Amino acid sequence: MKAIIKVFKFGGASLKNADSIKNVANILKRFREERLLIVVSAIGKTTDALEKVVEAHKNKTGEAFALLELVKKSHYEIADQLFDPGDPVYDAVNDTFVEIEWVLEEAPHENYDFMYDQIVSVGELVSSKIVQAYLVKAGLPTQWLDARDVILTDDIYREGWVQWEETEARCERIAKPMIEKGGFVLTQGFIGSTKENFTTTLGREGSDYTAAIFSYCLDAESMTIWKDVPGVLTGDPRIFDNVVKLDRLSYKEAIEMTYYGAKVIHPKTIKPLQNKSIPLYVKSFVNPDGEGTFISSEVDEAYPPMVAIEKNQALLHISTRDFSFVAEHHISYLFNLIADFRLQVNMMQNTAISFVVCFNDVDDKVDRFIEKIDAQFKVILDRNLELITVRHYRQDILDSLKEDKIVLLEERVRNTLQMVVKSVPMMRRKDTVN
Ligand code: ADP
Ligand code: ASP
Ligand code: MG
Repeated sequence: MKAIIKVFKFGGASLKNADSIKNVANILKRFREERLLIVVSAIGKTTDALEKVVEAHKNKTGEAFALLELVKKSHYEIADQLFDPGDPVYDAVNDTFVEIEWVLEEAPHENYDFMYDQIVSVGELVSSKIVQAYLVKAGLPTQWLDARDVILTDDIYREGWVQWEETEARCERIAKPMIEKGGFVLTQGFIGSTKENFTTTLGREGSDYTAAIFSYCLDAESMTIWKDVPGVLTGDPRIFDNVVKLDRLSYKEAIEMTYYGAKVIHPKTIKPLQNKSIPLYVKSFVNPDGEGTFISSEVDEAYPPMVAIEKNQALLHISTRDFSFVAEHHISYLFNLIADFRLQVNMMQNTAISFVVCFNDVDDKVDRFIEKIDAQFKVILDRNLELITVRHYRQDILDSLKEDKIVLLEERVRNTLQMVVKSVPMMRRKDTVN
């Protein structure tokens, strides 16, 4: 009989210290009879800390080893609270960190993105070793799986694209037999490998996506991501008051909201699940009895207004240097470049003499794009903008979102409104003192 497999994902927030890891083990005890594939991210904010190591190494500031020491120290502090001295996990953790030390002993690699992946991926490798060892210690037999043996990507470092056929075949060959043995299988989010066996990463916050890749390849019955919020809310609770939990959401709603910045789920997560009708639960690791949000193909007719905000937007106003119309061949040339740079287009509009486009302003991609088109096109650039997406909008919500903002571009399509805005401090009358 085909085993019923569920996929769980625990992110950095659920693993931020020893108590959090114990809490994860307690949640998993409820599922000890089930076949689970568990995906874990790096502990807490480790990825940010490792990015600093990469920067220091690249810029030869001399601080890379000291910054790595801080990362190691925080991991050993957690391990000391979970394991007895001399536990074999210490060797496993040491061996993993040594891989970064080897990279740091060499001169910075000329391919920054390659070097980044070799260093930053270690966050997930160590966390998975610690969590797996702890689960075993807590009486939950758990095998450790190297996600790089399963997830094959292309060789675009920092944003590896999954090679689905081979990944599915490897999942069948490597992951399935491990799961069928019984107990849990635990692996890393965020990382994959090229066909030459170099480590890649799937893009920041990519562990949710890893869980979806495994769910798809294993034909999982369901996938659950455990978060520090009760479920998907109508807006980011760090930005808005009065947000409410959505009990049910269709794949389509979830895709629209996450693509445009609802940070609770990585945007690439939903599609693989939708393709195989695998339901996604977003649940709270703080209150595991809570119902969470259930995402599936079921469509509700009435949704409340939902808001997603994506920061770091760049708006480019592009026109030809020879004052000719922006014609099809220009658009086609620009789009080819956009694809080459893997720029995410969030909004666009074209008029006779200009093409206006809004991108996620990540790394130096926008600068490189502008440099490339500079000979042919004039570009007016606005940075540090926000993209606000409102689904099922209501006028009062739009009005409140526009307070203290200048709207640079706005578009309404059916029940979605999007705008690119710039924050401006409101002018207020000074109090007159007599
Ligand atoms: P992980 O620990 O898996 O990395 P994240 O921190 O990436 O979890 O995602 C959870 C966070 O997403 C929440 O703490 C919340 O601040 C934020 N968030 C943004 N938009 C939403 C939303 N619409 N609903 C719920 N949480 C949201
Ligand atoms: N650790 C990675 C990051 O912080 C991946 C993830 O957490 O999803 O980006
Ligand atoms: Mg995250």
